[in-house]
Parts: sequence; C-alpha cells; structure tokens
Amino acid sequence: MAVVNAHTLLPVGLALLAGALAPSAGGASGEITPAPRPALEFIDTRFENASPAWYEFAADGVAHLHFLYDHERGSSNRAAGHFHFQLQGQPGARLVLEFRNLDNVWNGAPGSVARELKSVAVSADGRNWSPLATESLPGNRVRLSVEMPGPRLHVARVEPYRLSDLDRFLESIRGHRLVQIAPIGRTAGGLSLEMIRVGDPRAARRVFVRARAHPWEAGGNWVVQGLIRRLLQGDAEAEQFLGRYCLYAMPMANKDGVARGMTRFNLRGKDLNRDWDKPADPALAPENAALEAWLEESIRAGHKPDLALDLHNDGGGRLHLSRPPVADLDRHLEKMRSFEALLRRHTWFTEGSTQPGFRNSGTLGDGWLERYGIDAAVLELNCNWIAGLKEAPLGRHWETFGAGLARVFFDYFAPSAR
Ligand SMILES: [Zn+2]
Repeated sequence: MAVVNAHTLLPVGLALLAGALAPSAGGASGEITPAPRPALEFIDTRFENASPAWYEFAADGVAHLHFLYDHERGSSNRAAGHFHFQLQGQPGARLVLEFRNLDNVWNGAPGSVARELKSVAVSADGRNWSPLATESLPGNRVRLSVEMPGPRLHVARVEPYRLSDLDRFLESIRGHRLVQIAPIGRTAGGLSLEMIRVGDPRAARRVFVRARAHPWEAGGNWVVQGLIRRLLQGDAEAEQFLGRYCLYAMPMANKDGVARGMTRFNLRGKDLNRDWDKPADPALAPENAALEAWLEESIRAGHKPDLALDLHNDGGGRLHLSRPPVADLDRHLEKMRSFEALLRRHTWFTEGSTQPGFRNSGTLGDGWLERYGIDAAVLELNCNWIAGLKEAPLGRHWETFGAGLARVFFDYFAPSAR
C-alpha cells in the first residue's frame, strides 16, 4: 500500500457529517434511502494486544488518536507509543489519522516518540502485514494516511506478536526431542512465564536470550522464533550449532503488557529492563524475580550462560554495550566487538554499537555483567528501517535475523575464540 497524499483525502469528519445529514426517508414515494456509511465508523481498541486509546474527530475531519500512558512507579517516567487498533469503515475510503500523546519521559528526561515513529504496519486481516510511512507534524504529532482495503484495517506500531502467536509457536515445538519448555514463574497478572531450552544442557557453551521486556517491542519475539526454528531445522549445520552450544530463551517477559497493548512497564509500574543492579523485587517485578531465580539456580548447577542478549526495539537499532565498573571491562568489550563483527557477517545488521563511555545502569546487559560476570548486552532492533536490507521491518525480516544469530553464536563460541 502506498502513502497517499493527505490533500486528496476525504476528511473523516465531513464524511461523518454527510452520513448524518443524509435523508433517512426519500421524497413523496416514501422509499427509505439508507444513510451512507461514514468513511470511518469505529476504531476498535478492545482485542488482544490492542492499545488503550481514545479518539475524536477534529473540525478538518482528521481523526485524532490519543494513546494512554503507562507510568513507572516512583518516577516521572511515562510511556505511550505502542499502538495496535482496528479501523472499521467504508472500503475504499481514504482516512487521515493523527497520533497524539507521544511526549514521553524516559530516564527522567522529557522526550517524544514522534521523532522515532516513521513507519507503521497495516493489515486487512491481522495476519498479513505491510509497512506504511508516517508523516511528521510540528508539535510532536504524527500523521498517517490510509486507504481502507475493505471494511477493516489493522494498524500497529510494528508487526504484532501476540500471546496467541507465542502459544501457537510453543505448541509447534513442544515435544521436540531437542526442546524443553519449563514454567519458571508467573507475571504480576498471573500468566505463566516460560523458559525454552533448545539443545543439550551439557553442551560446552550456553547462550541466553530474552525478548519483550517492553511490550511494544515485538521485534525480539520474531527473532526468538526465527532463531529457534533455525536450530530445529534438523540439517547438518543445526546439528553442528547445537553440538557447540545450548540456547535458553525467555520469549515474552512482559506478557501482561503485551496482552493489554501497553508500551513499557509491567502491571506494577516497573520497567523490566531496569534494577538489574540489585536483587529483583518479587512483589513488584515478579517477571524479573522469576528470571533471576532461574539464573541463580543455573549458576549453582554449573550452567551459567556465557552470553546473554536482551532484545528490544527502538529508532536506532544498535548494540548497546554498557560499562559498569567491573575489573575485566576491557575483556568484555573485546568479546562484544567480536560479537558485533559476527552480527555484521552473518545477519543484515549494520547499525553498530554505542559510543565509548555509554552506560545505561540497571539494564539487563549492565546488571548481569556487573553482578554475575556474564557477557551481556541489550540489542535494539530498528523499528523503522533495516539499513542492511533497505526495507521497513516486518516480522519475517526479524525472523531471518534470528536464523542468522544461530551461526553468530556458533562462531562466537568457536574454541579458537575463547
Ligand atoms: Zn526496550
């Protein structure tokens, strides 16, 4: 679907007005003339992963969508920027939407998602998605122009990966001889949290991957799916990979937020990619407490991960290397340089890593290195553009990236690289 010029569009409000003014009964004949359907009848935000939002029609007919913030406990931080909603209206109608409430507070500083919101995903059936560019407006507003392909159109920040998608994936691999899916705890809302193991726990090396600490960032889920599918392909290479390392994946850390279409925090107002510099609070961040208990049990059992990646989405797409005050920081950074080089070699990654001096305290990458001595990093996936492919990202691109990671880990753990 191409971007349409906003000036050629039928303003939603005028269309609604036309509908309202249409005569409900014809002239002398008494025939009933049905009122034309408004171009935009309804915006549905009440389904799995739909984002909390309210909307109104401006005088110029543009539909203004106001996304609701989720807030961090004990902090000024707030986040809105996830969206997933369904437009219902006339097939063929051209609609103009404007996104509001994009002024977030991140790490205590004001910022706006508007600058990072350059592309969205749209789908007529909620299954097959295509990218669509947005238009930036003054005042941190973002405009989207769409043409209704049928009576419904899903619009999402990135191609969604819902709990039902995860359930379907888990069912497709459950029972495989190389897979173990173990519950490790529950979310604040009571949902079961899984740890997926792929391969032999006695393998020489272990890699841990987490996705979806932040609910809007679906990219990581697609990566985990692509990685696991590659490892279970049953070919000689997959056998080689799993002969060298075992994968542990926590596929969806913030399930409550994903189910409810939230942006960043968990149900208790905690950021699951913060506070890793100290023991997790089981009452406020049970998702992290469960992961921490799993990690400490793994360490006691002699199965400490050699490498840990926390998968995220942002508008930059870089490997985030944090620098806590640890004695062997240079060794860690050297390992991460080799990891980055392998990402460039075996995947479409080109975005590079954070500048020398960068630190983001309490992130999983930072805290696991500082507290457990694990080579850990946050990997951001650009939500707007994949420079290495010259394409706007969809789930399948992130799955391809995940498949490439299988070889990245294999080379990273090469005996010569130890
Ligand atoms: Zn994130």
